[in-house]
Amino acid sequence: MNDCLFCRIATGAMAVPLIWSDEEFVAFRDIAPQAPVHVLVVPRRHLESVVELAGEDAAYAGRFLRAAVAVARKEGLDGPERGFRLVANTGPEGGQSLFHLHAHLLGGQRLGWHPA
Ligand code: AMP
Repeated sequence: MNDCLFCRIATGAMAVPLIWSDEEFVAFRDIAPQAPVHVLVVPRRHLESVVELAGEDAAYAGRFLRAAVAVARKEGLDGPERGFRLVANTGPEGGQSLFHLHAHLLGGQRLGWHPA
């Protein structure tokens, strides 16, 4: 998917500093951070959203979650007094603007908005 921004980042066609990279996933800082830590965790494979992720095998979805938690640890967000939020905006009404699956990892301050 040459026209997909996150595919270009995941393949290295567009260079951004990666803070996580393994065979299946990459993570990099959001260009418009909404918290002191705002990282996007992105599968190298082009999946549109968590709806497509749910169609993958469960182990792959688990590894996506594991990569996100590993990034949170790397960012120092997992201590007893710390914490973070993982958000996957899904579809237009869910606020998704880029249609390559990504989880927003947000933290570094007490997060004030409690939608649920
Ligand atoms: P969403 O609205 O949930 O689809 O999230 C898309 C996110 O991608 C937004 O938070 C944007 O700020 C972010 N974004 C867009 N372009 C880039 C880029 N080149 N590098 C890093 N983050 C980006």
